Amino acid sequence: MAKIACKGLSKQYDGGPPVLHPLDMQIDDGEFVVLLGPSGCGKSTMLRMIAGLEGISGGELSIGDKVVNDVPARERNVAMVFQNYALYPHMTVYNNIAFGLRRLKVAQAEIDRRVRDVASLLNLDTLLERKPRQMSGGQQQRAAIARAMIKTPAVFLFDEPLSNLDAKLRAQLRGDIKRLHQRLKTTTVYVTHDQLEAMTLADRVVLMKGGLIEQAGTPSDLYHSPRTLFAAGFIGTPAMNVVSGVVERGADGVFVKAVGQRWPLKAGRFSRLQNGQTVKLAIRPNYIRVVTREADGDLRQIRGTVELVELLGAEALVTFDCAGERVAALIPSDAVPALNSVVMFEFREADLHVFDAQSELNVALERDAGTKQQETQRTRVAHAIG
Ligand code: ADP
Ligand code: MG
Repeated sequence: MAKIACKGLSKQYDGGPPVLHPLDMQIDDGEFVVLLGPSGCGKSTMLRMIAGLEGISGGELSIGDKVVNDVPARERNVAMVFQNYALYPHMTVYNNIAFGLRRLKVAQAEIDRRVRDVASLLNLDTLLERKPRQMSGGQQQRAAIARAMIKTPAVFLFDEPLSNLDAKLRAQLRGDIKRLHQRLKTTTVYVTHDQLEAMTLADRVVLMKGGLIEQAGTPSDLYHSPRTLFAAGFIGTPAMNVVSGVVERGADGVFVKAVGQRWPLKAGRFSRLQNGQTVKLAIRPNYIRVVTREADGDLRQIRGTVELVELLGAEALVTFDCAGERVAALIPSDAVPALNSVVMFEFREADLHVFDAQSELNVALERDAGTKQQETQRTRVAHAIG
């Protein structure tokens, strides 16, 4: 097992624009880190650089305590699982799994013991004599994972391994991968564009956008304290509601005007807001409730016209029109208000996130020097891109 460290790591494919801007990242020994972000943000490039399949344009990459910039892939003791299962079609599952050890000239008895070991971990015991085409996508991907595991690598790399599977198999295999990590504790870097996969699997999520790290933290950090408007919108389903607002700051306190209303912002975390500052207000649909009485205490209320009702099962997503902006609330499906009715909704100030409209940074989060540096870089890159 091994930790991974990237210092100022960057990538530029020959002659092209930068694909990864110099970035710092530390992955602890035994940690499960998910690189999350939209298609094209540089996740696979990052993973392939760790694997040694892609050259490094700048900075330093270490695995364990060793700088591996110039160490070829086969000497890095990493194993990678790809989106398409990449099994040898003419070989049985047994031989596919054994392949890597045979090439290393491991004794047959030892190979047999280890193949049966990993096969049992991944519930492949009864499938060892099958050819890949005789198995489902989920089974093939489990075989591909077994093949990667058998060499007991120091680092496990996964590149969107579940993307080709249907929803049910995806959930099943997600559980298998998590259980596997809980048992083996192998340092794992897992790439996906699916925030649910990231949230369920990761010890820590590294959210990327345009070749930069947007935010790194535990799933709970990203969910409850999104550092940027992008992070707020990318994490969580149903997606965060976002509306525009303007701050009013006077002797009687801090207020925000939005969706035709004006609320006080009482919490200390909003004390840095300036009079006239334009902001984006964000709140998750699951923190908004339908109410019938006037609010008291810390509750804020908005009135809206029910525009759309989407039944999800025990809950329904109700979208309402609120002074021209759309806001959605997740509410119990036995309490769904009628279409076109005017209803009062409420939320707690504690569940509201406020972002500066220009920088798109969360106004409530304290920033250390490292974060500030990243933000400066982010702003500079954003301006360069236009
Ligand atoms: P992701 O895995 O997050 O979808 P990638 O790492 O595959 O993103 O790609 C990041 C960016 O690098 C994209 O703009 C992509 O077009 C570019 N890119 C990837 N591979 C190459 C390559 N071999 N040559 C040139 N550009 C590439
Ligand atoms: Mg990719």
